[in-house]
Amino acid sequence: MSSSNTVCALATPPGISGLAVIRLSGEESFSIADKCFRGKVLLSEAPSHTIHYGKIYDGDVLLDTVTASIFRAPHSYTGENIVEIGCHGGLYTTSNIISTLLNNGAQIAKPGEFTQRAFLNGKLDLTQVEAVADIIHASSVQGSHVAARQLLGGFKNKVDSIRKELLSICALLELELDFSHEDIEFVDKNHLTTLIGNSINTCKNILDSYTSSSILRDGYRVGLVGYPNAGKSTLFNALLDKKRSIVSPIAGTTRDYIEDSLSLNGIWIQIYDTAGIRQDSMDIIEIEGIEFTRQLLETSNLILIVNDISISPLHSVSLYKQLSLLYPEAAFCYIQNKIDSVSQSLVSISDIDSLPVSSLQSIGIKELKIFIEKLASANVDRISDVLLNTRHTAILSEIIKSLENANCSLNIHFSNEYVSLDVRKAIYLLGEITGEVMNEEILNTIFSQFCIGK
Ligand code: GDP
Repeated sequence: MSSSNTVCALATPPGISGLAVIRLSGEESFSIADKCFRGKVLLSEAPSHTIHYGKIYDGDVLLDTVTASIFRAPHSYTGENIVEIGCHGGLYTTSNIISTLLNNGAQIAKPGEFTQRAFLNGKLDLTQVEAVADIIHASSVQGSHVAARQLLGGFKNKVDSIRKELLSICALLELELDFSHEDIEFVDKNHLTTLIGNSINTCKNILDSYTSSSILRDGYRVGLVGYPNAGKSTLFNALLDKKRSIVSPIAGTTRDYIEDSLSLNGIWIQIYDTAGIRQDSMDIIEIEGIEFTRQLLETSNLILIVNDISISPLHSVSLYKQLSLLYPEAAFCYIQNKIDSVSQSLVSISDIDSLPVSSLQSIGIKELKIFIEKLASANVDRISDVLLNTRHTAILSEIIKSLENANCSLNIHFSNEYVSLDVRKAIYLLGEITGEVMNEEILNTIFSQFCIGK
């Protein structure tokens, strides 16, 4: 993507709104804007960080009264000359102004092009670019807060300090290489192992925040599972307080899975109503649904086993036990559903967390929501400034592997040359996190997630 041309796009969502912002970025921004903007000053002569009231014309036709904000390179979001035109919202005005800018020499910006220019001009590193995307797509209050801290350089600073530590380790290793024939040991090997171990631990600590990050980004995932007719769909609707899933006395109604979300104390909760698990099912569609259920449970943070207490309080215990063995990473709760239809007092089951509920009569739903919220909150790191994604985790795992190799070589008294190679590889990989080492394919994937105007 070349940054030599001047590009423009609507930076606010299209549609009817009080105000809209059209962004123009590139060397010719001011001269292009001057061809259609009439105000008290020429924008090309206006100082940076000033706002000007005026009118936008297409030839002699008045399009709108606007404000033009001026940002001169390199003190702008993209690092280029920027004019931000604040106009009235609505489809016609904004598209007419954009057409006029295009007729006067601008080109339409591609999705993410403004942020890509900011990256190419060194205004943002890749972790900050990702933070911009996370802020735009934030699905929780805490997620947007962490992304905001990452945008300020939270992750970048962490990467920089690991890099600094590794560079000083390399310096020690390589200094000794220069004197290798003199058999001088400048640094104790145990000390080097400790230093490398410290960097490994820092990387591992960052990696540990992955679950927290994915909850902040995609929500806390709750799967409802149980035998057909246990009342999963009724519970799903009760939790969401709306009729979303089909409730039917005929077993096997939820063929696939249905998902919806709610916010509990600012945390996004993603709930899945799954196909009933009936192992002897001969119904192909239902078996297909069950396969979905399995895939879904693999990524669930909490699995609610919905039991029909009117059959027996222990009816789904074996299902609970099987699934908790299969998905050890997830939290589990045994929901004793349909308590309105039984008179016996509840049987508590040893070693199993259970909650009494009547999905039909909304009894115990409030308590269940509090239970979910507590678990979700416990998983969310509110003070972190890193919103880890799968790209980061893959690179961090490789860095840890390289550093563990380095320590292994030290322990078996390999030459410093070998040790240093692995440490240097880790430094190179840190550059992939921040984008100093460019990978065209990865950059394209990241920027393709942006919308036009960002
Ligand atoms: P699913 O197959 O597990 O999704 O079960 P459904 O939600 O479709 O419910 C099956 C049947 O159980 C329906 O007739 C529901 O009205 C009924 N049901 C669900 N929850 C309750 C409950 O808490 N109490 C009573 N009495 N019936 C319920």
